[in-house]
Amino acid sequence: MKRVVIIGGGIAGLSTAWNLREHCPAKEFEIVLFEKNPRFGGNIRTERTDGFLIEGGPDCFLSEKPWAMELCKRLGIDGKFLNTNDKNKKTFVLSGGSLHILPEGVILMIPTKILPLAYSSLISWPGKFRMALDLFVPKKKDRADESLGDFVRRRLGREALDKIAEPLVAGVHAGDPETMSVRASFPKFVQLEEESGSLIRGMVRKMAQAAAHRKVAQQPPAGATGDPKRKLTMFMTLRDGLSELIDTLSSRLEKMENTVLRKGVGASSIEKLGEKYRVNLEDGGSIDADALVIAAPAWAAANLIGGKDAELAEALRTIPYVSTATVSIAFKKKDIKHPLDGFGFVVPKIEKRRIMAATWTSVKFAHRAPDDSVLIRCFVGGSKNTELVAMDDAAMLKMVREELRDIMGIDAEPVLSRVFRWKNSMPQYTIGHEERIAWIEERLLMHPGLHLTGSAYHGIGISDAIRFGEVVAKRVIHEISGKGTAQ
Ligand SMILES: Cc1cc2nc3c(=O)[nH]c(=O)nc-3n(C[C@H](O)[C@H](O)[C@H](O)COP(=O)(O)OP(=O)(O)OC[C@H]3O[C@@H](n4cnc5c(N)ncnc54)[C@H](O)[C@@H]3O)c2cc1C
Repeated sequence: MKRVVIIGGGIAGLSTAWNLREHCPAKEFEIVLFEKNPRFGGNIRTERTDGFLIEGGPDCFLSEKPWAMELCKRLGIDGKFLNTNDKNKKTFVLSGGSLHILPEGVILMIPTKILPLAYSSLISWPGKFRMALDLFVPKKKDRADESLGDFVRRRLGREALDKIAEPLVAGVHAGDPETMSVRASFPKFVQLEEESGSLIRGMVRKMAQAAAHRKVAQQPPAGATGDPKRKLTMFMTLRDGLSELIDTLSSRLEKMENTVLRKGVGASSIEKLGEKYRVNLEDGGSIDADALVIAAPAWAAANLIGGKDAELAEALRTIPYVSTATVSIAFKKKDIKHPLDGFGFVVPKIEKRRIMAATWTSVKFAHRAPDDSVLIRCFVGGSKNTELVAMDDAAMLKMVREELRDIMGIDAEPVLSRVFRWKNSMPQYTIGHEERIAWIEERLLMHPGLHLTGSAYHGIGISDAIRFGEVVAKRVIHEISGKGTAQ
């Protein structure tokens, strides 16, 4: 029987395994997945303690990218979807040391409503006029890549970059707009400019289309267990945390015939033996594969591939990663004077603070904290302050408390705190990313049977990792059994 080996048990590796099994029966080939850590999930990690539900890594997926929600539906856990509490939908931006509301209607940095922007205390009048000029600025003539910073300055002006785009991007990508590729990181913005000649005009059009799409998406598929009347919010999660997706996937896969998931066993190198790949394992063992999917970060894939194709490994190493940490901290509600009337705040680089953003978790989602408590999650590190990730827990907690005291006036004693570090875990799509990935994929053609998947290549979020897992699974099936649709 043929064998597919998958290296990496994050969402990308698990969803590849799931798609392989969904599209091809177990008697056709065996799947063996190796995860280096003693748990599956990679960056996705939920912990429950003293009535709190703490997300160490991601806390939601975007409903606009349907693949995570579709996978949940296929797994039968769509009944667990949890919306954000949209009556408190506001986001704040730290500016001049105080929190200002991100004007209503600003979607991914693009203003779509006139009045909230006009009344906003965040952006100066010249800044507002400059943003409105987007309606008249001619579109870029060539298709050459540019940095997100250049793109936003060109279309919306410097103030929109400093006070809106940069902090929002840092909150999601932990990245630096001056090095990020706008084409690879925000293809939608480029598309809006190309199609509508203006981000504002394009976004208003897209919103009308998205409203129609949401209506369709809310129709449950036959047999779905979800609430048919549920309205999708922009960010969605699972009631018991995102690890529920990982736990369901891994436990369902483990029960399937000819499907083996092994955790606590990392791959150390790969070799080519005739038509097959030999994967050497950190425990001294080895396993041969007819098809090999590396679903580990690009730098880890480079280490595995290095002995076989140094140029490919070098290309993979040019995808930079940044480190971040999340610090979840809980207080008694009665000790907090701040109204917590939103989902949290982001911090522009120009404010020179030591946290990138904070989510008011117990406001954003229900079921995250006991009724008498609040849970706040702060983001540390990223391209702005990578060195802070190395602080020990006590120093990091002290630093985060000082920041919350200065920004939100919180000086209460926390009732709980939890630090999660994510070293080299957020890939950065820097200028030229699309060309680099095209080169890597071309080079992979020299190694039939070898595949790469994960957030380093075609989208940094959970939904993208799931979608790409499906694409790779179909390629593998096409290759080893001549079935399925290669894409
Ligand atoms: C703090 C943080 C917050 C985030 N928030 C969000 C969010 O809210 N929404 C969203 O959509 N996305 C978010 N993301 C991004 C999201 O986490 C990723 O898109 C997704 O988890 C990537 O999955 P992956 O499987 O590609 O990689 P990973 O999760 O990194 O999994 C790769 C796995 O490979 C394993 N591995 C590495 N080397 C080896 C080896 N040699 N042998 C065997 N196994 C190996 C690793 O141990 C790991 O488990 C966030 C990321 C971070 C760090």
